[in-house]
Amino acid sequence: MLGIIFTLDYEIHGNGEGNPYDLMIEPTERLLRLCEQFGAKLTIMADVAEILKFKEYKEENRQDDYSYDAIVDQLRGAITNGHDVQLHIHSSYFNATHDNGYWIQDWSEYDFARLPYERMSGMIGLCKQFLESLLRPVDSSYRCVAFRAANWSVSPSKNVVQALIEHGISIDTSIFKYGRRKGVVNFDYSQAYSPIVPWRVKEDDMCGRDDTGSLWELPIYSERRWIGAFLTWNRFSRALMSLRHRVGQSGLSSQQTRSHATPAGNGWLGSVAPDSQGEGWLATLLQRHAWKADFNQCGGGQLINALHRASDRYDPHNNKMLPFILIGHPKLFTKRNEKSLSLLLRHCAKHPDKFEFGTLKAMHLSLRNNAS
Ligand SMILES: [Zn+2]
Repeated sequence: MLGIIFTLDYEIHGNGEGNPYDLMIEPTERLLRLCEQFGAKLTIMADVAEILKFKEYKEENRQDDYSYDAIVDQLRGAITNGHDVQLHIHSSYFNATHDNGYWIQDWSEYDFARLPYERMSGMIGLCKQFLESLLRPVDSSYRCVAFRAANWSVSPSKNVVQALIEHGISIDTSIFKYGRRKGVVNFDYSQAYSPIVPWRVKEDDMCGRDDTGSLWELPIYSERRWIGAFLTWNRFSRALMSLRHRVGQSGLSSQQTRSHATPAGNGWLGSVAPDSQGEGWLATLLQRHAWKADFNQCGGGQLINALHRASDRYDPHNNKMLPFILIGHPKLFTKRNEKSLSLLLRHCAKHPDKFEFGTLKAMHLSLRNNAS
């Protein structure tokens, strides 16, 4: 049995641009309703770092331009309706300042895994406490138990593992096997224990398994695939959006442009072949790349085939409960995407013997029960 878990990184554009109503609230509302039509659950990975900035803005300006109240209502409503909310952190927002409709982030704090321990632990503690105090009024049993780092940055892992454990977070879901990045964040997850089977992590290397560890990794499902698998319409529109929201496109002065500059460098090639590492087109064409189960960017048929491949390969006798973790972003939930996602949801709902909709909260409870 595969537990189908839709995780949604709930955030505005990575460069600090954009309106939370359009990029988060409205598309997430449509996603929640679509999931409910098929009995599926959404796990909203809320970037609390930016939500805290929206709150601060509202309090300082006495004006809710960043829809803080609507975000609170949406997260509480999701919990009330049986969905899940867990923690995502874009650490560069903690020192962010607001300027002319932009959030100017502190790029020196962009790479989460390389933050000093005290700083990282302080951020996790603050964000976890925020989510719990926000959501316990609607569900007294609510706990923040799962985490995903911005840009999947959990390497080097020692600080991350210790800080998550210190704050009682028992699941990380940042790793995708075969993923590699070099530059503003640095990791190589090619040796990760599995693309789907959860493992207790080694303290100094989250890719490795240590059965005495207290933190579980529930990886985002991934496969190694040729470049052709990345060419979908959904991914093409995502690439266009990335280009539009690159820095320097909004009439900023050159001084402002520099200060707004994002280090992500996430252009067309980055979108299509996320693991090419700037090795050139020929290498990009000849190599295989990490293909994440992204429910906004992959086609519905592609994901259905991946579900069956995973089921046949990792649970051929259908007797385990394996979490098949998908990732998405509300800003990418277009009409076209709605069609392909409906196809996937309908397929899962039609095969209850093979697929069951789940949440990270439910996985946490099942891991805990199996351990005791
Ligand atoms: Zn994010």
